[in-house]
Amino acid sequence: MRRKVIAGNWKMNNDLQQSVSLIEELKNKLENKSLNCDVIICPPFTSLYEAKKLIDGSAIKLGAQNMFYEDSGAYTGEISAQMLKSVGCEYVILGHSERRTIFGERDEVINKKIKKALSQKLKPIFCVGETLEEREKDITEKVIKKQIEKGLVDVTPDEVLDVIIAYEPVWAIGTGRTATPQQAQEVHNFIRKLLANMYSKDFANMIVIQYGGSVKPENAGELLSQKDIDGALVGGACLKAESFLGIIEAA
Ligand code: PGA
Repeated sequence: MRRKVIAGNWKMNNDLQQSVSLIEELKNKLENKSLNCDVIICPPFTSLYEAKKLIDGSAIKLGAQNMFYEDSGAYTGEISAQMLKSVGCEYVILGHSERRTIFGERDEVINKKIKKALSQKLKPIFCVGETLEEREKDITEKVIKKQIEKGLVDVTPDEVLDVIIAYEPVWAIGTGRTATPQQAQEVHNFIRKLLANMYSKDFANMIVIQYGGSVKPENAGELLSQKDIDGALVGGACLKAESFLGIIEAA
């Protein structure tokens, strides 16, 4: 009942020319394929406008990797939700662990961003995940609960259906070390139960929960066959059209 969503987080990779080549290649590979999932690409800001033109008429949708929560003003270096909308973004990744650790984003800031994105009809891909230390201390569920509850403060039931949650164990991001399908399923199930408590069971059953962390064509099939895993947020493997396609096909 939930359609799978495969999103590619390009991170700080690909200048304009490289972005054009990757999108052209992906578009060619996807042409005439009937897809069982939604496909989203999240290139860097500098490639979004051109990306939108290139994907027009294809099945690929566009997302950004971050935004600020104010509408406009003296916020040097920042990008607003409206700016992202104006270049054709439908989605925005928020709360990625790299934003949390490298740029010091806290739950409160992420919540403001989520609410702003929703108010501008941008769909957040809201990332949560525990560090290795937290997993070893056996506090994974506590950490995820706090991130989700704080991230979704004042997000209404109507709005929450537009939120995609991405469970990304920090120790699996870019490390080649994937959570086992069972480990991932366990946390996804926990997240769905939490959402059922916060909203309702029906709503929780409609919300897409992606897994992220070293997803590749070789492990995508097993991860995506888990009951509560509704897609993938892909980093490294989305930078090659071939491997991103492999993951899309696994869905
Ligand atoms: P990875 O990154 O697939 O390279 O582990 C995932 C992410 O950070 O979204």
